[in-house]
Formats: sequence, structure tokens, C-alpha cells
Amino acid sequence: MAKPASRIEKIPPYLFARIDKKKSELKRAGVDLIDFGVGDPDIPTPGHIIEKMGEAIKNPVNHRYPSYEGMYEYRKAVADWYRMRFTVDLDPESEVVALIGSKEGIAHLPWAYIDNGDCALIPSPGYPVYRITTLLAGGVPYTMPLKEENGFLPHLDGIPKDVLDKAKIMFINYPNNPTGAHAGDEFYEKVLYLAEKHDILICHDAAYSEIAYDGYKPKSILEFDKKKRYAIEFHSLSKTYCMTGWRIGFAAGNREAIFNLGKLKTNIDSGVFQAIQYAAIEALTGDQSCVDEIRRVFQKRRDLMVNGLNSVGIKVKPPLATFYIWSKVPEGYTSEGFCEKLMEGSGIVVTPGNGFGEEGEGYFRISITIGEDRIREAVERLRSLFSASNDNLGNP
Ligand SMILES: *Cc1c(COP(=O)(O)O)cnc(C)c1O
Repeated sequence: MAKPASRIEKIPPYLFARIDKKKSELKRAGVDLIDFGVGDPDIPTPGHIIEKMGEAIKNPVNHRYPSYEGMYEYRKAVADWYRMRFTVDLDPESEVVALIGSKEGIAHLPWAYIDNGDCALIPSPGYPVYRITTLLAGGVPYTMPLKEENGFLPHLDGIPKDVLDKAKIMFINYPNNPTGAHAGDEFYEKVLYLAEKHDILICHDAAYSEIAYDGYKPKSILEFDKKKRYAIEFHSLSKTYCMTGWRIGFAAGNREAIFNLGKLKTNIDSGVFQAIQYAAIEALTGDQSCVDEIRRVFQKRRDLMVNGLNSVGIKVKPPLATFYIWSKVPEGYTSEGFCEKLMEGSGIVVTPGNGFGEEGEGYFRISITIGEDRIREAVERLRSLFSASNDNLGNP
């Protein structure tokens, strides 16, 4: 058997492997698992989007290769959505590219900007793709720790000047997975100041820009980078319209970055199935009340879960955005130890924080992508687990 490339061997071991193994063991033993592990909405895609797909799929024109960069109509719909949502103007031709889900664009971006040994600034805890594709592209990730005392924002003043000088790209992600944190105006302004001073391309992952509560409206980094000189922003229809399985997203922003990402993609993939692009146009330009409904469902679940956790002694604050609750594990536990304890003791699956990077150690993530009844049931299971625990787990 041929030896795999060293770049494959460089991929760090899959941290969830142990948890996954335990999960299947318990399942096989007949345990009724309540799974808060996956960031994948259980809510179906809104009906009008599915209908549009149904129409488009019947047209043979859509059975052929799509254009690489996305249909003009799709990119125009993205530009219209951006103007409506953020008051940002985009040129559909040169400032938007269609993606096969935003993960695809995020994963490819380092290949367009990172040469061997080049530095990329990566948040930790964070979406694992930033770090791993930087490594695959031969880059050197510089970790920006996200600490609770900084509101889970990177401490930009703490990044050494020589690192900033060397850095080619910086990944940021607000509203944030896994911490549920959000960023204010000053943060974006400061990031863009560094981008200008040190020639860094800012890659803002805005997958959760529409999943926000209590009237909070997340901003686009392009509202601050008006001339689109430093930033590229990645968006996804996955979370906004509950379309994770459809695989469509887009990148918008700096023309050169859009061009270079597009040039790379031309040589790797052949674009997004046109019927899916038509469905996505319907999503972006159709009635947006479906998004209000999705937010309403998640907000109710968030409140139920946060109140439940607090009632059993796990003190958490309700996040203003995302469908994640990020919490410290009780004293005396590691992330993995606590997650195993929850799974074995109560059949509840949560994600250990260290799966998102070393800086996530000491935390766990709950994804509220299952219904209210199951959330209530999980809280009751936690209550009995904690009251039965002789180590007084969760009750400081
Ligand atoms: C879900 C998610 C994505 C990827 O979304 P797709 O468009 O489905 O590929 C990107 N970034 C973060 C932080 C996510 O949580």
C-alpha cells in the first residue's frame, strides 16, 4: 500500500473519535441518547425553497455543468440580500462567488494565500477547518486564544508585531462557534486597522449572522471595510434557512480575494448544481418570515436550556446569537471526562471544548438543535445525575 502524503499525516488526530466510539457503544446497548453534539438544525428547510428546487430540477438546462463562479442571478440575489441586510453594495460580477457550502470556501482560501511557512492567525477554540486547512496548505497557524475575560474575542494587542508582519491571513468568526460570543463595532475596526497596517487579508466567517436573538442584529465586516480593501466574508445558507444538506453558500468582499479563490476553485470543483442555486435565490430574495420563525424556535430552546442548566447548578448566560451554549465544566473535570460522565450517567451527548482547540479545554458545548421536549427531558436527567452524584457535581 502506498504511503499517504505527509500533509495527510499532519492532520491532527480526530478528537471526537473516543466520544463517537462511546456513543455507538451506548446506542448498541439500547441507551436513549439525547444528542446535543451536532451543529445541524433539526428544523426542515422552509417549504417555498423546496418548491423552487422542485421546479428547477425538472428543467434540463439545470442538468448541465453550472458556471464556476455561480449564476449571475444567484450572485445578484446575494448582492440584493447584502444591500437589504447590511446596507453594503456589492458588484455581483467581481465581489461575489458561489460556494459549495461556506466550509468549502473557508477550506480553499488558505490554498490561495498561504505559501509554505506562511503564517495564518487562527482563533482557538474555533471551527477546526481554519487551522487544519492552513496546515494542509503548508502554513503555520498562530493561535489567537479566545478567553472568557475578553468576551471570547482575540486579544489583538497581545499579538507580537513580528507575527502580525508575517501573517498573510486572519480568520475571525462572529457570531462565534463554539462560544456563542458576538463582536462589537470596535472589534471590527481594530481588526481592519491591523489588516491595513500589516497587509493581512481578513477572512470573516459569518455563518451565524442571521441566528441572533433579543433583537440583536449582527453586522457584516464589510460595513466597516466600505471599500472592501481588506476583508472577505463567508456566508452560508445552511444555518439561516436550515439547509445544511443542500451545500450552498457564498463569499463576498475584496475583489482580488474573490478572484483568487475563484481561480483556485475553477481548477478543483465545477460549481453548485443550478437547481440548488435557484432554491438559494428563492431563499435569499423570498419571504424572510421563515428566518424569524427559525430564530423564534431557537430562542425558546435557548431560554429553556439556559434556565434548565442554571437550575441544576451549571451557571450559564444566554448567548445573544448562534445555537450554541458554551459552558465551563464543573470543578475537577476535564472537558472529555465531563462529557463521558454525562454520556454514561445520563445518555446526554455534548461536545468537549478541547475538540475546538486546546484553548477550549475546561468547557463543553451544547447545540440546541433538538426539540423542547428533549431539552426538558435532558434537564431532568441532569438533575437526577447531579443529585445522585456524591462529588456534588455542578453544585458549588
Ligand atoms: C456550520 C458552519 C460553517 C459551514 O457551513 P456550510 O455552509 O454548511 O459549509 C462554517 N463556519 C462555521 C463556524 C460553522 O459553524
